[in-house]
Amino acid sequence: MNVEIDQEGCVAAGQCVLAAPDVFDQRDEDGVAVLLREPLADEYDATREAALLCPARAIALSE
Ligand code: SF4
Repeated sequence: MNVEIDQEGCVAAGQCVLAAPDVFDQRDEDGVAVLLREPLADEYDATREAALLCPARAIALSE
């Protein structure tokens, strides 16, 4: 699974970090999401949930 974050579109809501804390983090200075690493196979569901929950639709997944 490949994960891309649209950092221009991210509104720093943090839903992605709550859903998949080992995959997403937020920058200290502005809360914009960053990718910690590509998800492991057992994190795919949580990563999909993060993309669904993102209010800005700023997470794009390709599998
Ligand atoms: S859920 Fe979306 S808007 Fe919120 S921090 Fe994550 S990428 Fe940004």
